[in-house]
Amino acid sequence: MADIGDLTAKIQMLSGVYAAQLPEKVAQIEQLWRQVPLVRWDEEVLQTLHRRVHSLTGSGKTFGFAALSDLARVIEYDLSLLMQAKVPPNQAQRTHLESLISELHQVILDPTASQPDHSGVIAIMPPHQDALKIRRILIVDDDISFAENLSNQLRYFGYDTRVFNTISEFIQAIDQNTDVVVIMDISFPGDNWGGVTTMQQLQQGRKNPIPVIFLSAQDDFNARLEAVRAGSIAYFNKALNVSRLLDKLDELTSIQISTPYRVLIVDDSPTLTAYYTAILKQAGVHTYCVNDPLTMMEPLHEFEPDLILIDMYMPGCNGMELAKVIRQLDKFVSIPIVFLSGEKDLDKQLAAMDLGGDDFLTKPIQPQHLVTSVTSRIRRSLMLRSFMMRDSLTGLLNHTAIKDQLDREVARSKRQGTACCFAMIDIDFFKKVNDTYGHAAGDRVIKSLSRLLKQRLREVDAVGRYGGEEFAVILTDTNSVTAIKVLDKIREDFSSLSHFADKLEFSVTFSCGVADVMNFNDATRLCNAADKALYQAKHQGRNQVVGAHPELPPSLTPKIG
Ligand code: GH3
Ligand code: MG
Ligand code: MG
Repeated sequence: MADIGDLTAKIQMLSGVYAAQLPEKVAQIEQLWRQVPLVRWDEEVLQTLHRRVHSLTGSGKTFGFAALSDLARVIEYDLSLLMQAKVPPNQAQRTHLESLISELHQVILDPTASQPDHSGVIAIMPPHQDALKIRRILIVDDDISFAENLSNQLRYFGYDTRVFNTISEFIQAIDQNTDVVVIMDISFPGDNWGGVTTMQQLQQGRKNPIPVIFLSAQDDFNARLEAVRAGSIAYFNKALNVSRLLDKLDELTSIQISTPYRVLIVDDSPTLTAYYTAILKQAGVHTYCVNDPLTMMEPLHEFEPDLILIDMYMPGCNGMELAKVIRQLDKFVSIPIVFLSGEKDLDKQLAAMDLGGDDFLTKPIQPQHLVTSVTSRIRRSLMLRSFMMRDSLTGLLNHTAIKDQLDREVARSKRQGTACCFAMIDIDFFKKVNDTYGHAAGDRVIKSLSRLLKQRLREVDAVGRYGGEEFAVILTDTNSVTAIKVLDKIREDFSSLSHFADKLEFSVTFSCGVADVMNFNDATRLCNAADKALYQAKHQGRNQVVGAHPELPPSLTPKIG
């Protein structure tokens, strides 16, 4: 990440660039003013003039030209009165405006010392950036069979485990193991609080405490309090629901997935977009700048921003029109849109919000204010989006979200010529699981498969809950040979997982159909092909992965009749 020195240097450089552009900008304004006809009303030239002056109002203070901003605001106001009247300026108005415009030459030579304060910009990263890097789970419990069983269950979900049946063995090993989570029993033979006191001693003087999860047969407040004092991150009753323990471990390990926030900036001034980029970059936010609003469509779809910052007045299309266009695209109905403008008129600000804006920031904006407004809006919007896109039982993408993702991935793979596979998974004889072991046990099976899929597939892959006991998986940059291999290993491991309902132990299998974008190059055909392959897997005896056969070209399809 850039340090604050870099930011200050960058902004000084941009202020220099801005100052160098000013004489040209003022000359353009003078020239436009000379083009305003004496007798005829010309709306277009006045509009352009107004926009040019307005842009100085917003940018002047940002780059340390406060007097310029103030003077431009006066001129802008006089021009807006003319525009409302819709008649050419009379002699008195002309003289007045002319003298104001000629004053612009003076004020651009006079940068004021007071620039917005950039020193306070701090990095605001997406939440959960500080997830644990877990290499190994150390299980410490004198109950040998309990510990071994737990260890096996965790191993199925990809965790590396080690079991210790005595505290002394554990203490000898702890220093050779870094990045561990300890799952610790509370009482040991001869020492009712052995687990807690051991951890309390180990944590003393450590800069980074060892994350520890306590397991205990007793569930009283005292035990929980002592556990917290020994650095516990979770506490579970020993009549253990492994599923909940796994949820906790997944939460600790898998949260590094958050990627930097993405902001699309639309402003006709390249100097200003560079300025906003410098500030947002300092806060760890990625940006994409568009200086011509008419070319915004492609970056909007390609960059997939989390938020859009839009200038109000731009040539070709104003910010309000742009917001309306964006809002009429299904995919962007809920994306936060923030207007950035020198506009101080509250009515106009409210009108802009009415047309689909979420917030209105007035130029010059304090850097920290920009960063906070942008990141807090993104955080809330992502949270809401995640509620809308996720299935509540498993946390996987829901049906609509995985279909949307498939459309995107197929388009990307066609565009870039990369591989991509789609798989449909359906649990075998699931109705019988529900009927025999109850609906709650059925739910746990669904969760365990969802967890296994998340654990085994990569961050770039997408896993969705397609329906009740059906799952859909998108494997990016993966050909069908590899996809089938990976899914078959998951199938094998899933089939050897033990599920429990009361005291009853049982196992479950799934069937899977896989189709390759190479052979079915649109999302609908790919989906149908995977579904057909899944049907074939069921038909051939279940508990297997079947690859879809490529479609024959029409010329090779056998003719009937
Ligand atoms: P097959 O091997 O042919 O797929 O047989 P099956 O029994 O798995 O298939 P079927 O589609 O006949 O039954 C699916 C069952 O899944 C029916 C439904 O009650 C159950 N189910 C669907 N959603 C859920 C859920 O969220 N939780 C639980 N426990 N059961 C569910
Ligand atoms: Mg089924
Ligand atoms: Mg089914």
